Amino acid sequence: MSAGRYDLAVVGGGIHGASVALFAARGGMNVVLLEAGALARQASGTNAGTLTMQMTRAALIPYALKAHEMWVNAPRWLGHDVGVVACDGLSLAFTESEEELLSERADARSAAGAPITLVSKAEAACIEPGVNPEIRMASHCSIDGYANAYLTGLAYRRALRDAGVTVREYAPVTGLTPSSNGYELRLEPETIAASRIVLTGGVWLEPMLGWLNIQLPIKTLINQLSVTERTGPVMRTVLGIASGLLSLKQFPHGTVVIGGGWQGEGNRDTGVHRTSHDSTVGNARLAVHAIPALRNTRLVRSWAGFEAETEDALPIVGPVPGHPGVWVSGSVHSGYTSAPYIAHCLTQAILGHHPEMPLFPMDRLLAGPGSEAVPVSPEPQ
Ligand SMILES: Cc1cc2nc3c(=O)[nH]c(=O)nc-3n(C[C@H](O)[C@H](O)[C@H](O)COP(=O)(O)OP(=O)(O)OC[C@H]3O[C@@H](n4cnc5c(N)ncnc54)[C@H](O)[C@@H]3O)c2cc1C
Repeated sequence: MSAGRYDLAVVGGGIHGASVALFAARGGMNVVLLEAGALARQASGTNAGTLTMQMTRAALIPYALKAHEMWVNAPRWLGHDVGVVACDGLSLAFTESEEELLSERADARSAAGAPITLVSKAEAACIEPGVNPEIRMASHCSIDGYANAYLTGLAYRRALRDAGVTVREYAPVTGLTPSSNGYELRLEPETIAASRIVLTGGVWLEPMLGWLNIQLPIKTLINQLSVTERTGPVMRTVLGIASGLLSLKQFPHGTVVIGGGWQGEGNRDTGVHRTSHDSTVGNARLAVHAIPALRNTRLVRSWAGFEAETEDALPIVGPVPGHPGVWVSGSVHSGYTSAPYIAHCLTQAILGHHPEMPLFPMDRLLAGPGSEAVPVSPEPQ
């Protein structure tokens, strides 16, 4: 049974897929978005919501800056609120080696356009009075902030509906085959026909590309986060540390979300993940070290989610070689921050326009002839 024909079928309803579907529909395409579960309930709905330059790779800074502007103005283009708060961001150094790391990374990111400067301990304490006085220095970015990631699905569902996208939740796609005028997607027991396909499966991009006999390893990180009970004001910035092992912010209603890439346990193939007790304790200790006033605040919940990473830790965004009309987008480190703008650029290409900024073709990661086509230079974290 075939359920109609679309100009574009997007497979995966996280922030990448939902954004591409939205922009393509607004660009005049008849779009279907197919999501295995509920919209934005994997990485895109469970992440820490940090919209930061300090954790973004230098190569992605220009995209993240544009995306930050989009997030701050979300009600204007998305039409719905995702609880975005813009504020200062600080990354802290407690040791000499962290000082070196901070300077190196601040240099690379400011060269890429982020307004990041190194500040003294006294200046850092003015920006964030709650910070541990034992810090040696910090890097400061005036463009930082956070969103309420769990609102992502709600906001996008409404926007997609308003744009006329057919959203199919709890609709796992099991395969993709070429047809005479496009592709057919298998969704037991039906098929969906579309002229163009975008694969936006997060960590599941690897099995999705397998439908096309393309082997591209996608590393699965199992990041975990914790949230505290509501407490009085203890901080007013987005805080990290040079090593990247901490991200901290207090939401307007008083809870503090603690993250920083501490690893939980799980398996992409079963979709099951859980937090690790040791990671929860280590992460909470680091949070208290950065903001001592958190010492008597209780954690109320911890959770984990899957984050995707390619071999060179840069995204794959662009056409799938050898399969005309099939596109891919994902594997962006700190990917929530830059996703709306990356999706905007990809959609321009899909609509036949020249993208405002270059895409990140996947050819560089494929074995065999042509894999050297795109030079990949080592990127600072
Ligand atoms: C705990 C955690 C904290 C993070 N914190 C931050 C942060 O603070 N700031 C930041 O910028 N980034 C952060 N990230 C990274 C960010 O969340 C991700 O880079 C981003 O959300 C990835 O979006 P995506 O759309 O590519 O993937 P996802 O959100 O994972 O979406 C992929 C979707 O594809 C669907 N899918 C899979 N297979 C199929 C199929 N066969 N058929 C149909 N649908 C399918 C999945 O169900 C899923 O909904 C964090 C990640 C995690 C896990």
